[in-house]
Amino acid sequence: VAAVKNVKNPITLARLVMEKTPHCLLVGDGARNFADECGIERTPTEQLVTDEARAEYAQYCSEYGRAVSALFNKPHAGAAESNAGRDSHTADEATANEDAANTAPQPAPHRPVHAETTLSHDTVGAVAYDAAGQVACATSTGGITGKRVGRVGDSPLLGLGGYADSWAGACSVTGHGESIMRTMLASRVVSNMEDGQDPSAAARAALTHMYTRVEGRGGAICVDTQGRIGHFGTTEAMAWAEATGTLPPGPQASGSAPVVRSGVENGDGYASVP
Ligand code: ASP
Repeated sequence: VAAVKNVKNPITLARLVMEKTPHCLLVGDGARNFADECGIERTPTEQLVTDEARAEYAQYCSEYGRAVSALFNKPHAGAAESNAGRDSHTADEATANEDAANTAPQPAPHRPVHAETTLSHDTVGAVAYDAAGQVACATSTGGITGKRVGRVGDSPLLGLGGYADSWAGACSVTGHGESIMRTMLASRVVSNMEDGQDPSAAARAALTHMYTRVEGRGGAICVDTQGRIGHFGTTEAMAWAEATGTLPPGPQASGSAPVVRSGVENGDGYASVP
């Protein structure tokens, strides 16, 4: 689902679209009407928009290009000023992107995160592999703070913000939606796994492609058809957690306790000014 308001759990609604309609994507009023039909209560806007989010919006709406650049684009010396509004396409930019595609990313000294860029991440993603060998993915986001009304990012779009195919694997991604769309990030990760790459290598290769091809940064989590888990990120921080274990099906599942590991991907040199 995309551009839908007053829904507390959009992934629950997305699952209902999958299970109860012949469609893959519902947006806006149509999605909200379908939620009403399914008995999903309307959550008041005041409960979904926090004071922190309002303050962040006030800070970001005047500097969207700069925020996106600092968070998600390839770092350049002096990038904060020169990259404002970089989503517009110019011949120069196209040439720069072609050049970038021929340049391998160079790990470089760490640059501290700017205080004003640390708030804007709210994307959550999950991938799962079950006892029958089926895989699934889910991605939910509020988008990028300061975006234009009507802008749909990668997260709700199949193959971009997430992709799952039980013959190949599943992936959920985060990062600069416009870069993710231009490089079909989630399906690229899944294709890499289908071609035999280890999941973390598959995520790294796809994110490296996005970085070199369109100068965008992001992160991915994935699982392959053997249940092997992978993750990689080119932003300054992406938190992840894994749980593995065998649980019988059903809501009251009890079985061997899941093993839980967690950590933070730290950009591996991609997030620093070369
Ligand atoms: N990918 C999301 C978007 O562009 C943002 C994010 O993952 O933080 O809407």
